[in-house]
Amino acid sequence: MRKAIFPGSFDPFTVGHYDVLESALKLFDKVYIAIGHNTSKERSGYFTLPQRIEIIREATAGLKNIEICTYPDLTIDLCKKLKVNYIVRGLRTTTDFELESVIAQANKKMFPDVVSVFIPASQEYSFISSTVVRDVLIHGGDASLFLPKGVDLSKIKE
Ligand code: ADP
Repeated sequence: MRKAIFPGSFDPFTVGHYDVLESALKLFDKVYIAIGHNTSKERSGYFTLPQRIEIIREATAGLKNIEICTYPDLTIDLCKKLKVNYIVRGLRTTTDFELESVIAQANKKMFPDVVSVFIPASQEYSFISSTVVRDVLIHGGDASLFLPKGVDLSKIKE
């Protein structure tokens, strides 16, 4: 069985993340959506970890072969723990590519069996980021355009 980890902050999980996930499910038999929570982003996180999990649960309710998990350490430590050799990341821009290739090289150095798989953003989602969604929410806007179907934030964040 070919398994992959799709790691991220997912603060929150967006329609862009969902698009990458759907592509990953065409390549892999199982995809772990892994919320990292030991980053500097987490300390100023907008959604709590349980809220992020709930958003992903709602977003992926119709999907098979996924599992949501959280991890406090390096992504490669999670790979080793789950016996997974593939890390999926999405690419929107050349800036994403530059950042991601450095991370992929560091991961490979630390865990030579790991392969990073980059999935390009679909054109219609390439401008969407969790940051944009948070900004819209902070200013009282309607973020539903940027969230996967099934996600109802009114129930999640008071
Ligand atoms: P991180 O803090 O690890 O970058 P994010 O939750 O911001 O976590 O993103 C997780 C992954 O999803 C990253 O590889 C990011 O480049 C990718 N991603 C985010 N938004 C999009 C999008 N709109 N289209 C494609 N990939 C995306």
